[in-house]
Amino acid sequence: MGIAIEEENHYGFRLSDELILLRDQIRRFMREEVKPIEDTLPHDAIGCGREDRIRLRAMAEAMGLTRLTVPEEYGGNPVSAMARAVIAEESSKCRLGGYAPALGAFGGGPPNIIWGGTPDQIERYGIPCVEGKMRAFVAITEPTGGSDPRNNISTRAERDGDEWVLNGRKMWITGAEGADFGILFARTRDGTAEAPPEITAFIVEPTFFGINFNEIKVIRALSPYEIILENCRVPVGNVLGTVGQGFGVAQSWLVDARIPYAAGCIGMAQEALDMACGWVKQRPTRDGMLADKQAIQWMIADSEVELRAARMLVYDAASKVDAGQSGKVDASICKLYGTETAGRVVDRAIQMFGGMGVAQEMPLERWYRELRVKRIGEGPSEVHRMVIARDKLRNTNGGVYFS
Ligand SMILES: Cc1cc2nc3c(=O)[nH]c(=O)nc-3n(C[C@H](O)[C@H](O)[C@H](O)COP(=O)(O)OP(=O)(O)OC[C@H]3O[C@@H](n4cnc5c(N)ncnc54)[C@H](O)[C@@H]3O)c2cc1C
Repeated sequence: MGIAIEEENHYGFRLSDELILLRDQIRRFMREEVKPIEDTLPHDAIGCGREDRIRLRAMAEAMGLTRLTVPEEYGGNPVSAMARAVIAEESSKCRLGGYAPALGAFGGGPPNIIWGGTPDQIERYGIPCVEGKMRAFVAITEPTGGSDPRNNISTRAERDGDEWVLNGRKMWITGAEGADFGILFARTRDGTAEAPPEITAFIVEPTFFGINFNEIKVIRALSPYEIILENCRVPVGNVLGTVGQGFGVAQSWLVDARIPYAAGCIGMAQEALDMACGWVKQRPTRDGMLADKQAIQWMIADSEVELRAARMLVYDAASKVDAGQSGKVDASICKLYGTETAGRVVDRAIQMFGGMGVAQEMPLERWYRELRVKRIGEGPSEVHRMVIARDKLRNTNGGVYFS
């Protein structure tokens, strides 16, 4: 596109030359193609017009940036966890960058657990998602609580001949209405003192008997939905995976998503900090520019340090996943620190901009709202702290002064 690749390796921690090229390619794509379209949209729009979307996706496709979590045998272009983190950070600097499901330039793709389905399920649900013809939701959380899904899922599924009959409610399910199908988790056997409850994953369609949706308005424009299941009938062929094994399926999906989730938050915050740096260098005060003031410089320094640390935690978790390790605790560490850091950095950027920081002509207040949600979605901060603390306590008996 005629622009020299940036010389400095600002995010240099263990990135290969190939990943630096990828990062710079996406950065140019976002600046030159995506951002100009975004600038024409209303402040809270969550997608662009159909023509622009098709054009952007075709460009992303030509650059090999789509279908990144789809296996090769289904026409995918799977990349490493590190590459996904780099892509998520850069693409999240624009809201059309693809981190909103199926709305952005990089296309959606189904939740990756669909690839564990039968050939028929892959054909009916997986492939149409890859082709952009279908969109899906994932429904785990219930009104009784989402932090401990294994014990809180009380939606029941009872077998009745060739069908399962589902009764219960799901809450906070992103993009549920208008989706073509969803992967929904229900209890197929209660727990006992010895064994936890048995959870099963089902593929449900909005056209099935007994399923209804209610929008829940929240702090951001992309709404979640309540799903009400009243004797909802699901064909036995729509069980995803094995009956009773759904919890493992849900967990693998959640762990897999946390690293790019954290990286996306860092991308928004980095853009906010870079914007603030540009602003304070131009904003005069009675005796010098805002940038000359220690109060401002400390906000910049703290933000830069925290963002670099957050990024390194993302790369650390991604490199462990790429090395074949589980990465569960590392994903919790980078999700916790990445989302909380990003919220603090955007908050400081707003402070440096003053009134302009909360004006709707700037993206800052939208990022601020979005980042508030990110501390709750994909496991709230407290749950990740529990995961990290339990692991630390399990694996540490005492330091050198205590044995
Ligand atoms: C905008 C949005 C979109 C979402 N999209 C989806 C989706 O697509 N699919 C889906 O399945 N879910 C989705 N969720 C749900 C999300 O995953 C849950 O909100 C989250 O898991 C927390 O569950 P909860 O809201 O029921 O809070 P609760 O589980 O009731 O917890 C409330 C608070 O208490 C804390 N807490 C809970 N247990 C403990 C404990 N033992 N010790 C200390 N603190 C504790 C929690 O961290 C939290 O801060 C979405 C949520 C939001 C807000």
